[in-house]
Amino acid sequence: MELAYYAGEFRDINEAVIPIDERGHQFGDGVYEFIRVYKGVPFSIERHLDRLERSAKAIFIELPVSRQELKDIIHQAMEKSTLKDADIYIQVTRGIAPRNHLFPDVPAQLALTIRHPRQTPEEAYEKGIFTLLLEDERWANCYIKSLNLLPNLLAKQAAASKGCKEAILVKDGYITEGSSSNVFAIKDNVLFTTPATRKILSGITRANVLECAQEQAIQIREQNMTPSFLKDADEVFITSTSVGLLPVSKIDEVELPTFRPVTVALKHAYSLRTAGTKAYQ
Ligand code: PMP
Repeated sequence: MELAYYAGEFRDINEAVIPIDERGHQFGDGVYEFIRVYKGVPFSIERHLDRLERSAKAIFIELPVSRQELKDIIHQAMEKSTLKDADIYIQVTRGIAPRNHLFPDVPAQLALTIRHPRQTPEEAYEKGIFTLLLEDERWANCYIKSLNLLPNLLAKQAAASKGCKEAILVKDGYITEGSSSNVFAIKDNVLFTTPATRKILSGITRANVLECAQEQAIQIREQNMTPSFLKDADEVFITSTSVGLLPVSKIDEVELPTFRPVTVALKHAYSLRTAGTKAYQ
């Protein structure tokens, strides 16, 4: 059963519960996390909670619960929902106060949902996805997982209107990331990805995949990539909590090779992590 949590209580997922003066509702004034539960285990939970704390701190929000309390709420959500595989969405906003740009002196609000996991069709993993390069029109602090996703939504929608599953964003002539993913390329057996600066979200999947690559002694270069470098790569894939590793078969009009040995090896190593054959945090 899918469930929501708001104002300290578990609720029906469809219950209308957000007050009109919620700053998340009015300003998108908050941060979020998205965690995947595999077989009853919230994958990489410590890393997700680290990032939530970093994001909240960056916009001067004090989390309304301790880390342990948040973990307890997550575990209660898993128990109450009885979902073994699930998507958990956590949102923290600056609270409820009459609309005013200045920060109110009220407690932050925690919201959470637990749902069936969004599934990516197996065909997408086999064939790869089409992507479109678009100008990155976002702000300067994309390392914060902020609720303000309008440029990401516009980019994803523009990509979808051209039959593409993801928009790959370009800022100042270099690839930053996808509208909801990080981007990797393989050239001559070296794994490339954009460095985790303020210009991108430091993905938890990205971090896990880089560790998988290290374990397999794959050479890694965190360096900026131009669009032409990406289009000329041997393999390209995107990563996110919801899709894991997803190969890219086309960038704009350029088709990429269909032989993807490094992507396959990394995807396998990542799936061992999510399957919990070893304790990873
Ligand atoms: N970049 C952006 C802009 C995203 O929205 C996401 C997904 N939340 C990612 C990267 C991937 O992050 P993660 O692997 O932590 O899901």
